[in-house]
Amino acid sequence: MAGKRNEDRCNFCGRGRGEVNLLISGIDGYICDECAEQAHAIVNEALKQHDERSSGMDMDLSELPKPKDIKAFLDGYVIGQDEAKRNLSVAVYNHYKRLMQPNSGDDVEIEKSNIIMVGRTGTGKTLLAKTIARMLNVPFAIVDATVLTEAGYVGEDIESILTRLLQACDYDVKKAERGIVFIDEIDKIARKGDNPSITRDVSGEGVQQGLLKLLEGSRVGVPPQGGRKHPEQKLIEVDTKNILFICGGAFDGIEQKIAARLNTRSVGFNTDDKRVEVDRNNLLQYITPADLKKFGLIPEIIGRLPILTYLEPLDAEALKRILTEPKNAIIKQYQKLFKMDGIEVTIDPEVYQLIVDKAIEYKLGARGLRAITESIMMDAMYNMPSDEKKKLHVTLEYAKEELRKSNLERMRVA
Ligand code: ADP
Repeated sequence: MAGKRNEDRCNFCGRGRGEVNLLISGIDGYICDECAEQAHAIVNEALKQHDERSSGMDMDLSELPKPKDIKAFLDGYVIGQDEAKRNLSVAVYNHYKRLMQPNSGDDVEIEKSNIIMVGRTGTGKTLLAKTIARMLNVPFAIVDATVLTEAGYVGEDIESILTRLLQACDYDVKKAERGIVFIDEIDKIARKGDNPSITRDVSGEGVQQGLLKLLEGSRVGVPPQGGRKHPEQKLIEVDTKNILFICGGAFDGIEQKIAARLNTRSVGFNTDDKRVEVDRNNLLQYITPADLKKFGLIPEIIGRLPILTYLEPLDAEALKRILTEPKNAIIKQYQKLFKMDGIEVTIDPEVYQLIVDKAIEYKLGARGLRAITESIMMDAMYNMPSDEKKKLHVTLEYAKEELRKSNLERMRVA
């Protein structure tokens, strides 16, 4: 008896195969075309609401990590650099306070506190910015200022900085508008010298002018795929008012400018009538906006980067700590890699000293630590996964031998 009762039916609306256009079968049920479409619409609506909630700034001040909390978090990943950490923590805290500022009717409007960090390459500028973004769970993008050009010259448009940020949050404009952008090598767009040039300075000043627009806060058209804008392209409008910009640069040679400025006040300088000896080994700690101007940043840019901080050069002690202490320290990473093959790695303390000495000898700084460690571990990483042996004990002798075999010499910076 093939009655209506046995006919396949949509489990949602109850209509039979004969009453619908299409009946899709599942493991033990059916859905008709109309119900599937309706379900699709419901899912879309629900997801949209969820996204709107999560990209809004619903945080209140009590949920916001305090400067000391931010610093403590940074301590987990970045060794030393206390001054920069304190400055960054306060700047970021104030930035998010600013986003929450109530419309209290008074005339006080908290201004943006973009940051500029000056420090030798490989001292942790990028790492600091990255770690802050990780903590705040906001979109984060790193861009290199050297690829930026003025319109009309080869290279990328300034607005492409924001393309990276949009990509970091799947083109969710609302989220991007509260993100953090780290602009590396900002010193490379300095104009050559302190005086405004009569002829146009291709590399520097025009790019700085363009950047100014972004730093100040304005609505800009962003090419979705980055690169250069072209007339037919559809642009995404992004408001940069609440985007925090952190700039970093090595500013090679700025120490001489600082020294020259300090020298004009003879050997030391006076504060509160006390004579302070100048620490010639770490002149960056005395940096002022005037030095940045002397280096070739235009005053308007300097004005839009009100928080100026510096990073210390990393000495042997700091390098050794970087090897082992941070939450994702290089040594911990290698131990984890081996552990996945069931191999336990122990390393003699003298090996750390060797790695540090080599990094200093080859002038590689913190960046070299990984490459040197990799050279020491390479043989074992190649052989041991197929071996029976489940223990690796790295002695000074073993490490020296592995380094000798490796082609490390090629990394030496002249
Ligand atoms: P910068 O941006 O100043 O040129 P990075 O932040 O990119 O330098 O640092 C390069 C690498 O060196 C990082 O990935 C990190 O492993 C290591 N490093 C540098 N400075 C520190 C530091 N202070 N603490 C921990 N690791 C560091």
